[in-house]
Amino acid sequence: MARGADFSRWNEVDDYEATAGALDFAWVKVSDGISGRNVGPWHVAPLRRAGARTGGYHFARTHRTPEVQAREFVAELERLDALELPGALDLEEAAEHGFRVDTAASRAFARDFGIRFLRVLSECRVRRALYVNEYFATQLRPWEWGVPGLLLWVANYSRRPSVPHTVWQRSKTGRLPGVVGDVDLNESTTDFWRITVAVSQNGYTANDITFTENTLIPGTERKIRLRKGPAGELLRWFAGRFDALVETIDNDGELDDWGYAERPIRGGTELSNHASGTAIDLNAPEHPLGAVGTFTAAQVRTIRSLLDQAQGCIRWGGDYVGRKDEMHFEIVKNEAACEKALAAVGGGGDEDMQADERAALFDIREQMTGSRKPGEYPGWASKANPSKKYTATDFARWADYHAFKAHMKANETLALLAKQAGVTAEDIAKALRAGLVADVLPVLQEVVVDALGADNAGQAEAIADLALAKLGAALTPEEV
Ligand SMILES: [Zn+2]
Repeated sequence: MARGADFSRWNEVDDYEATAGALDFAWVKVSDGISGRNVGPWHVAPLRRAGARTGGYHFARTHRTPEVQAREFVAELERLDALELPGALDLEEAAEHGFRVDTAASRAFARDFGIRFLRVLSECRVRRALYVNEYFATQLRPWEWGVPGLLLWVANYSRRPSVPHTVWQRSKTGRLPGVVGDVDLNESTTDFWRITVAVSQNGYTANDITFTENTLIPGTERKIRLRKGPAGELLRWFAGRFDALVETIDNDGELDDWGYAERPIRGGTELSNHASGTAIDLNAPEHPLGAVGTFTAAQVRTIRSLLDQAQGCIRWGGDYVGRKDEMHFEIVKNEAACEKALAAVGGGGDEDMQADERAALFDIREQMTGSRKPGEYPGWASKANPSKKYTATDFARWADYHAFKAHMKANETLALLAKQAGVTAEDIAKALRAGLVADVLPVLQEVVVDALGADNAGQAEAIADLALAKLGAALTPEEV
């Protein structure tokens, strides 16, 4: 039995590490059809660090096209690296722009929306899931939509759903260690996040984007999605050297360099090595499939020297016996061989940068975003609670959250005081503003004069007045 939960901005987690061991998987609301709404993606990295496989879901809305919403969703999944679970489309009723299934027209709309949204995920090579409650499922029958590999995640809070499903959302009032209040609980009888059946021509597991990462090629601004681990790292090294010594791949943002590409499995057909992230196409239009002699003799010599350095782990499509494919380079040995070759060429680092400089830069990025894999980056210890560690992003979100809470509390208190004193909140604010003018203005003017010099005293007073006006405005109660 696999246990999971789902999280949104409404879930407050005071100790992510406490969820370790209680969660095999976690879906986090990372986007909402209402553009720009803050939905909770900050849960992803800490849940992953606590050991849960993480994925994202999108709360769909009816008033914008499924294509636009799907692309926003995929961008968030990529940004957060929330791709260990299929990306889930959440179709449900809502106060604003929600879905309905009570008429033939509303059902047709929801079904069409779902199919179009999921098609974009497929084009972006993101695995697909659909979240609905059991009533929606019986009305929409998504298992008949013809969407290959669609994982169904169905809610029913009283009993196991009787419709097809892989994941069951069984409670919205569950409890979990480290989580404040109610949380949605899910379970599955399978380890559904593992999809390991497909294998590419060179023997690497295929058609699973979670084995890949979008990686920056050294010395360029070009990112190519390649397999994680030594095979992808070796191709990454090769692409960097190719760019430096053979020809640039960084040509004005033109997207002509390709790595991972999911391919459908047809009967008897071997999968391209692109389907496992172990093949790379460089400057495709200049070296089209089937063409020969697209590189100069000198360029070919350099390519051969690089292939030698890679100890035979990489094969060039220009050496194919049948139809040539000069843009194409692929891994033909196992990971142990790739690791050995990688060590021999210097670990795949950027030639312009020493290994320690690269590591330092990487560390800075990780301290900001915490996006490294579980356990590898601890973050900074909290001063308030030294047993907890946070990244800079965690701190910023925490500060933002508490600043908001403090603001609301201040308004509440002001209203309460006003009520008890039999005056209005505006009266109190006025009194505070008057106090500011009397006590703070002279000090403020002095400070500004000091800063600007006595010659600019007039200007300094104007600045101080302006600052004070802003302070006064900030004291005006908003929601009392
Ligand atoms: Zn290729």
